[in-house]
Amino acid sequence: MNYDDVEDDLGGGEVQVSQSVPDEMKGLRACIICLLVKTYTQFYNDGCPNCNFMDWGEREIVEGATTKNFEGLVAMMQPKDSWVAKWQRIDRFVPGTYAIKVNEEASEEVQEHCREAKRRNLGKLSMEENA
Ligand SMILES: [Zn+2]
Repeated sequence: MNYDDVEDDLGGGEVQVSQSVPDEMKGLRACIICLLVKTYTQFYNDGCPNCNFMDWGEREIVEGATTKNFEGLVAMMQPKDSWVAKWQRIDRFVPGTYAIKVNEEASEEVQEHCREAKRRNLGKLSMEENA
């Protein structure tokens, strides 16, 4: 089949629901770093699959790296092919629900984790991206 002209992120039929999709609407928070949206409990228990360089089992991290203060929701099931993903620049992230925009900065502690992770191994992520 040729999907070239089909917006396959909108009408793909049954979609596997992964643990990265919020399981309830209340208590939703967006990861400030990658914009993935899940509940506080999901972040606390499972962390963020895109930002697993942080220790999500700590409340300060969950609170410092996620926010209730976000706008919009985009469901991303096939990040590599989706035009939304390209527009949002999230095509290398896991399928899930993403905020369009967050209105809050990550805490100092979380920002330090990000800088540290970048220094250590996010370099290899950006190399994959350019490959
Ligand atoms: Zn994240």
